[in-house]
Amino acid sequence: MKITKDSVVSIDYRLHLGDGEAVDESDPGEPLVYLQGHDEIVPGLEKALEGKARGDTLKVTVTPDEGYGDYDPEGIEEVPKTEFPEGLEMVAGGVLSATDPDGDEVDFIIKEVKADTVMVDFNHPLAGKTLHFEVTVRDVREATKEELEHGHAHSPHDDHEH
Ligand SMILES: [Zn+2]
Repeated sequence: MKITKDSVVSIDYRLHLGDGEAVDESDPGEPLVYLQGHDEIVPGLEKALEGKARGDTLKVTVTPDEGYGDYDPEGIEEVPKTEFPEGLEMVAGGVLSATDPDGDEVDFIIKEVKADTVMVDFNHPLAGKTLHFEVTVRDVREATKEELEHGHAHSPHDDHEH
């Protein structure tokens, strides 16, 4: 079957930023499984996979507007060190996560550690980047009723409760 909205798709993928050096990739034998049409992967990649079938390989270039968005300078904030848990190691380039008021986990990058404050960047690490994906479609199947209700794909080893 061809990939269309509500297909559960398994892909092997490799992501680089133009220089060929992988910044992310699926492990051999452990493809990424997602539900087409439910914002589980970046829009540009989802669009390119529409209509593809098992065994297809493709190279997809995704611009920031269809990837992780433009880089937002407003995403940088200066936070007093006292707001971080005591003893937390803070180094420039480090990635930390926090829980926002809605209870969602947000990752941020430490840009700079100053005397009393820390400059943190809430932009997605891939914001503003053009993404180069190399993808092989491993499997396409119809979603189960439960997957459609949840709005995401379930892998065979998944026993989550949400
Ligand atoms: Zn679920």
